[in-house]
Amino acid sequence: MPVTCVFGAQWGDEGKGKVVDFLAARAAYVVRYQGGANAGHTIRRGEEKFALRMTPSGVLQNATGVIANGVAVDVGVLLSEIEFLESKGIPASRRIVVSDRAHLVLPFHPLLDQALDASRDETWKIGTTGRGVSTTIGDKHLYEGFRVADLLSPTVRRTRLPYLLERGRQRLEAMGAPSFDTAAALAEAEVWATRLAPMVRDTAWLLQEAAEAGRTILLEGAQAALLDVDFGTYPFCTTSNTGVAGACAGTGLPPRALDRVLAVAKAYCTRVGRGPFPTEDEGAVGATLRERGREFGTVTGRPRRCGWFDAVAARHVCRFNGVDAVAITKIDVLVGIDPLRVCVAYEADGRKVESFPADIDLLQRCRPVYEELPGFTEPLGAARRPSDLPARAREYVTFLERRIGARVELLSVGPERTETVALKAT
Ligand code: GDP
Repeated sequence: MPVTCVFGAQWGDEGKGKVVDFLAARAAYVVRYQGGANAGHTIRRGEEKFALRMTPSGVLQNATGVIANGVAVDVGVLLSEIEFLESKGIPASRRIVVSDRAHLVLPFHPLLDQALDASRDETWKIGTTGRGVSTTIGDKHLYEGFRVADLLSPTVRRTRLPYLLERGRQRLEAMGAPSFDTAAALAEAEVWATRLAPMVRDTAWLLQEAAEAGRTILLEGAQAALLDVDFGTYPFCTTSNTGVAGACAGTGLPPRALDRVLAVAKAYCTRVGRGPFPTEDEGAVGATLRERGREFGTVTGRPRRCGWFDAVAARHVCRFNGVDAVAITKIDVLVGIDPLRVCVAYEADGRKVESFPADIDLLQRCRPVYEELPGFTEPLGAARRPSDLPARAREYVTFLERRIGARVELLSVGPERTETVALKAT
């Protein structure tokens, strides 16, 4: 399928990086369309581990990595990742293209992001990663943003940037927050402009032409659908539309150009930070999932909250994204857990709740209704074909398919690219 959108179907860390890396072997372009350096993707290649925050995963293959207009670009992070990849023999600066319409994270954005979250009262603290993505995207909508094209224009850079930096400094001062060195920021912007210029393109045009020519394009979502600013657990969410809507707005590709939508979900659920999580298990099962699944944040190192698969949330996500297929990852982590539970409905105030509620207080009160399935004990890491899978693992997957209303086409049984089972044609 020429244009495929791949995004996380839960609260993040589903293993999107691995799935994109697996699919990227066939892609000409791998595109980041929202988020920023607040999203870590981990890709393992043999003994080597790449933790990327700005760089599209596909650059480890031969694909061109596009940082499209919807991304909040942290130039410092991007340039250091490029240096790191080049030190490993991957010609990253030749493989990365950056949109001229993308907004830049300015030095005050992370400081403001941290100060804002610190100033919120306990109930409404978001627990942001403090990378300045929310404040960058917020400023974009307040007409206070600074784009790559602005950086590259000497006139705009030398007039608008000092003005915006001064306004940022004033906002920090008003909040009593730590500040930054304006002169150093202006000098750094000159360096950024020189280093970034060769990579900058009108990526909307580039991708539209590539799609029309039938080139294979992978659109890689960051964060995840339950953190979507409209359909996630607002305000405990991210600042973008993380699925197909974000893929169109964040690239300039029209909805008609998307041939296939692939949602990535773990065989269980995790969540980082605050916010409702109906199937969270704070007992032994949660601890086992955390240890076995190594559920600690790539960027922050924070332990992730863990629990059972939530089919109510997954069905909601598949519907609002028009999902064609699902990739289930980390099913190997479930080996030996018996019985397995899947949440098939919620209950609150003595009533059944079938759809995913917008009311955050109601969602906090929702108790999961579980169905139990027999667990499997055979290790899955060596499975490469559907017939290699134990019958009970296949039954678990079939059960998920029925409950979420979408086909599971890929099963990931380990972190390596080869540890993948294609269940249907992908
Ligand atoms: P992403 O942001 O969605 O790409 O997810 P993360 O990188 O935060 O988390 C995925 C982690 O799980 C990485 O360390 C992967 O190497 C690892 N991983 C991915 N798929 C599998 C799998 O099927 N089994 C196991 N055990 N680990 C996996």
